[in-house]
Amino acid sequence: MIPDLQAYHYDGPAEFHAIVGQIMAYLGYAGGHEPLPVGSEIVLKEVEGQYVLEGWFYREGMRWHSQAAFLEKDEPGRVIKNLILHWHQRCYGTAHSRWGTLTGVRPTKLVHHLRDQEDDEKRITDILVSQYHVQPDTAQYLVTMTRLQRPYIERPVHDAALYIGIPYCPSHCLYCSFPSRLAGAEAQPVMERFIRAVVQDIHDIAALCRQYDIHIRSVYIGGGTPTCLPLDGQEAVLRAVAGNFGNIEEWTVEAGRPDTTGKDVLALLRRYGVNRISVNPQTMQQHLLDLLGRRHRVEDVFAMFSRCRSMGFSVINMDFIAGLPEQTLADMQENMEIVCQLHPENVTIHTLALKKRAPLFHHPLRQHIPPAAEVSRMIHYCEEILQQHGYIPYYMYRQKYMAGSFANVGYAQSGTISQYNIQMMEERQTILSAGPGSTTKFLSHDGHSLKKIYMPKDPEAYVQALSKRMRQRRHLCAMIYGGDDR
Ligand code: SF4
Repeated sequence: MIPDLQAYHYDGPAEFHAIVGQIMAYLGYAGGHEPLPVGSEIVLKEVEGQYVLEGWFYREGMRWHSQAAFLEKDEPGRVIKNLILHWHQRCYGTAHSRWGTLTGVRPTKLVHHLRDQEDDEKRITDILVSQYHVQPDTAQYLVTMTRLQRPYIERPVHDAALYIGIPYCPSHCLYCSFPSRLAGAEAQPVMERFIRAVVQDIHDIAALCRQYDIHIRSVYIGGGTPTCLPLDGQEAVLRAVAGNFGNIEEWTVEAGRPDTTGKDVLALLRRYGVNRISVNPQTMQQHLLDLLGRRHRVEDVFAMFSRCRSMGFSVINMDFIAGLPEQTLADMQENMEIVCQLHPENVTIHTLALKKRAPLFHHPLRQHIPPAAEVSRMIHYCEEILQQHGYIPYYMYRQKYMAGSFANVGYAQSGTISQYNIQMMEERQTILSAGPGSTTKFLSHDGHSLKKIYMPKDPEAYVQALSKRMRQRRHLCAMIYGGDDR
């Protein structure tokens, strides 16, 4: 039977389901805003001590089949990935993605593992090209980026970061899948309970830090849009951080929406020691902002930027998205002209990754998402112009439903790298987290594996679950920092 196009079926041991799912999504057999008109069946069997992988690929009435056998000692996960990619490429005559078989969210993690074993960068580049089929210029790009990251991930084991998640926004943007609630629509008692819970959560983390001699070096308050909380609620959170943690090297607040950052909010952030701020225009054309439900004017972004400058934030980041509905290369060129004129210290270029939870997924404007080739031109333009203006790519990640070659990339002017962004991506440091939807990640003694505690995403569920989760967090912390997991 020929399965539905833009779908795949897997039949085999459950332990390989996630690997197959990841590679099939990457190849466009599931999700994505520009799915390929393809279908596939993947079957994995164990036969007399060896694995046999079979793949059927369907497209426009055509059927293509292949199979291969391999042994358990051959690292089955990697072999499965390699074979499916190879078959897909042969079946459709497509070129390998620049990332080769690095289909995960964090391609740089593997490069750091190689760096742990090997100092020779030429050898690491060769391994990426020969064993992981990464294109040579991309391999070089990853090696250069990880060289820059290395000092930030080789930190003392008792150093940690603090993340605080605030899942509220002033309105919901069309492309966004983040499950935020509208701050203005929240009943006052619910908001007050939420703020009290976040403050309690931060105090609980602070107590752990004191007990186990953990030093918070960076703080990131993200969301959502933390700056849309009532001013007294923001102050309560800032006070809890400033009152508990000394020696914070960098403290970032995501203030993504200019409609939430008047002088009073910015002054409050500065008063408590916030030194980095994220101003996120996403794009700078009024007609696009209106389509996306951003509910602010282009001029508001300029005004907010100049307020942040005059109030002394040492690092300003600006986020942009490539691939928004009706966005053109000329729009992105205009965005970059503005960046070069304003000269923020950090710039992050995201690619739209359309997820089912985003309102855009079911919206007619979905049809107006630019094709991958146009998005690729936008990204290359940004990369070129930013590097010409002294911005260095310093961290990156990919998303599950991101088309083949794209990545989200953070750029920084020299000396302004965000250690939090690197540590959060590379997962080589403990990140203690407070707030709904946040994940505390304790780095185990092996320096690689993480033990995690997830907070519920919904604010009310979070409030309900907080005591239990704090108990679990204390238990894990005692295991790791009290030495019980050795
Ligand atoms: S893009 Fe930012 S401001 Fe818009 S809904 Fe998502 S989290 Fe909120």
